[in-house]
Amino acid sequence: MQQTTEVTCFRRARWIVAWNESEGRIGYRRDGDLAFRGNEIVHVGGTFPGHVDREVDASRFMLLPGLINMHLHSTATMIRNGLSTDGGGYRFPYFYLTQRVLPPLERDKVVATKATLARLLLGGTTTTMDWVSPYDGWVEALAESGIRAYAAPAYNSAAVRITQDHGLEYEWFADDGEAGFRAAADAMDAAERHDSGRLSAMVAPSELECCSERLLRQSKALADETGRPFQVHAAEAVREFLEIARRHGMTPIQWCAHLGLLGERSAIGHAVYLDHHSKVAWATEGDLDLLASSGTTVTHTPTAWAAVGDGLETLGGYLRAGVNVAMGNDAFPHGLIEELKVAILVGRVKSGKDAGTPIHAVTDGFSLGPKEVLEAATVGGARYLGRPDLGRLAVGCKADLFTVDVEHPFMMPDHDPVRSLVYSAGQAAIRDVYVDGRQIVKERELLTMDIDAISRELMQAQRRLIDEVPSRDGSFGRSATEIWPLSVPMDEVAVSGVH
Ligand SMILES: [Zn+2]
Repeated sequence: MQQTTEVTCFRRARWIVAWNESEGRIGYRRDGDLAFRGNEIVHVGGTFPGHVDREVDASRFMLLPGLINMHLHSTATMIRNGLSTDGGGYRFPYFYLTQRVLPPLERDKVVATKATLARLLLGGTTTTMDWVSPYDGWVEALAESGIRAYAAPAYNSAAVRITQDHGLEYEWFADDGEAGFRAAADAMDAAERHDSGRLSAMVAPSELECCSERLLRQSKALADETGRPFQVHAAEAVREFLEIARRHGMTPIQWCAHLGLLGERSAIGHAVYLDHHSKVAWATEGDLDLLASSGTTVTHTPTAWAAVGDGLETLGGYLRAGVNVAMGNDAFPHGLIEELKVAILVGRVKSGKDAGTPIHAVTDGFSLGPKEVLEAATVGGARYLGRPDLGRLAVGCKADLFTVDVEHPFMMPDHDPVRSLVYSAGQAAIRDVYVDGRQIVKERELLTMDIDAISRELMQAQRRLIDEVPSRDGSFGRSATEIWPLSVPMDEVAVSGVH
């Protein structure tokens, strides 16, 4: 795609959340300009002296680096929203139920992906990975949305099945997942070849327990050969932890280390059930060190775990151990700002620590606050991707950013606007979003896709899916609402009464 060389300048932004290179952290700057030429930032803070083609009055804005979502399954949108939103998506046996019963119909996958990307963009996410079984139209949907995307086609060596006696069976494919791997490799190539210039690829076998040693080694070799980041779901369920231990005599993280899967360009999806987690009651406590010493990233999706009553023990502990943490939404809801609030609150609840005391500055080792989670959602993701040009407002970085209206009522009062954004306003105060120097969201309106049409189609798609559930539920034959009852019971309207 041809890049413009026009210069856009945000004048006198009230706040800029800029990258402080010398201290390796984000920092506030006040009342300064931010300019980008084409898709590259050329000035941050102070007055931009150069020629400007397009000037934006930013005097009531806070400018932030675009958020980076490193764990997402875009086609799960209509599964979670209204059906399994409250959890039940992850804990055995529901995880397998979700996989089997609720994938969208093939024809409805595009609308699910578009709906997901639309919400991410409106909420300030400018880069996302997308971890789905590849389907016709997927790469085009990623490109059309305007987001910067890492296509992460999913595949496994085995499917899982719940038996009538509540057991679990692994059905290993005759080809050990080779056809899925090849289809994924083709989809990765297609993404990288796309002329938008915003699409990349990630090598992402789906579940550790459903992949053979051969497929995992082959996947990591492909990632290393191509320079693509690698990710796999692991340590995401107690039952999975015990299954890996039964098969290999080691924890899921140790199994990953044994296979050479860990490293600076590797991420473990979730990594909740490490050997220190109280629910696995394991004898060793070495998993966290394995992740930290290898530079492996954990993609953290706290809402999905809070919904089933669990989470990392603890996020602050992972950060203090030196683990690189990136943020994600997993399946639903979509919007990383809300995820940041959940990350802080669950992190504190699981550690039993708060951020400090009223009389001491919040600088102690237990601190986990807006700065830490915002950095996870920006530079944490960029570090994993090996992209120093993403996740930062700094000269030379990509013009991926969003504006927050600091005079929005939920942002008031304005003493510490990042804190107000994370705890109070959430994405309601997000106004404009730019990806690669192109405006994608303008005054809360998505410019790239018709979100009303997408929403209407999504409702129809969910109805079609609900109709399919009993036949997909095998010998159980339950309806969607028998599996996931409505949050408020439905009452019959009485036929008698006052007329
Ligand atoms: Zn996932």
